[in-house]
Amino acid sequence: METPYQLRCSRCGAKAEPTPWNRCLRCGGLLEYVFNPEYLRDVQLKGSINFWRYRPLLPRVDRAISLGEGGTPLHRAERLGEALGLRGLMLKDETRNPTNSFKDRPGALLISDAYSRGFDAIVCATNGNQGASLAAYSAKVDIECHLLIPRDVDMGKLAQMIAYDAYIDEQCSSIEEAIRLSVEMAERHGWYQATAELNPLTIEALKTISYELHEQGAEADVVVAAMGSGATIHSLWKGYGEMKAMGWMEDPPRLIGVQAEGCPPITEAFRLGLEKPMEVEEASTGATPIRVASPIYGELALKAIRESGGLAVSISDDEMLEMEKTIARLEGVFAEPASAATVASLKTLLDSGEIDGDERVVCLIASSGLKTDDILRGLRMRRRHPSLTSRLTTKERILRLLEEGETYGYELWKRLGRGMTLGAVYQHISYLEARGLIASRLKGKRRYLRLTEKGRKALRALEELRDLLS
Ligand SMILES: [Zn+2]
Repeated sequence: METPYQLRCSRCGAKAEPTPWNRCLRCGGLLEYVFNPEYLRDVQLKGSINFWRYRPLLPRVDRAISLGEGGTPLHRAERLGEALGLRGLMLKDETRNPTNSFKDRPGALLISDAYSRGFDAIVCATNGNQGASLAAYSAKVDIECHLLIPRDVDMGKLAQMIAYDAYIDEQCSSIEEAIRLSVEMAERHGWYQATAELNPLTIEALKTISYELHEQGAEADVVVAAMGSGATIHSLWKGYGEMKAMGWMEDPPRLIGVQAEGCPPITEAFRLGLEKPMEVEEASTGATPIRVASPIYGELALKAIRESGGLAVSISDDEMLEMEKTIARLEGVFAEPASAATVASLKTLLDSGEIDGDERVVCLIASSGLKTDDILRGLRMRRRHPSLTSRLTTKERILRLLEEGETYGYELWKRLGRGMTLGAVYQHISYLEARGLIASRLKGKRRYLRLTEKGRKALRALEELRDLLS
């Protein structure tokens, strides 16, 4: 029997076989599943709203493995909406998935696929959530789960990976490096490739969020989502495209993509009218899921945003953290900073008239705030002493380098040597600056850092303490 879908190049449209890099061999475009329009028109869905209700709209797997994913609540956020001046604000609460993030949708589908095809091990390069989820689903069917993570992954996500008994490799300094390594490992060991950016089933799984929004009666004018790799926005748009083909709707919502000010490759490209994401040299944000300097789905995210008549914006880390608290206080939903960024963006968009106060707006709350470091920092300090000392050491080394004279962040990073991302160095800098141990000033385009009197005293105190204890 002919399958109702094919794997095709998203750029040139050519039919394709899966490749290690998920790229078209002709033009380098990303590969994706395309369903036949005739098939879509006749699709019948059965059962209540949950992830596997949409099985007829997903590539075939022999066995569906479930921990109860999808069918997440769509909250009417009345108090938050009133505070912002927005009548129809809604939160799609993906924190209610089995491992508390939207990545349980791809988690369920990818492990179902790996299991159905007889794999006994998978590999995934991950910023956190995808890995935490895959680890849980792998545990359920006794598949070996190998996760390649950047060294500064959020503590709560790491805790989940450990609890679900995954093999964790922390040698990579960035997600980009981890992705390269995952291709090598998949080929060398014959492991199933479960990295989000390299497995087109991820997009299929995430598109179910659009279907749920529609079936839950969102009737959204605008949907707002955070952008790391850009895969989420692209997936949402794919879902809406299919629903148009099915005759379910005529006017899909405008899509608004949000990035961090410290890492805005897609937002900058949107602003400048470019088709591909900008190069970001110094990615710097505490929101790890959206600290992606080279977004693989950037081009498709830009296309989705433009086709929908939407836009891309960026938000500071401070605004995200502030909004994280506000959402929890007013709505009882505890979002992680990257998810809170979606709501934080609304203030500016309402002020500038990009969104009207009467419109129906859905913000995607992709993942729980319980997983992130700002909440878990205290816990981490109590639990992981080696990490505590290494943290102090880096901060002390920064103070010592600044004692030698004024310099800027990039230079500091180079002098600190290998084994640390630029983003991590900037985090240490912000920490030290917030505590008044260092100060900065703009000189030309660069922000120069220097040791303050308080910083000098802290260094002396450390030396005295060391003498005392030796
Ligand atoms: Zn192509």
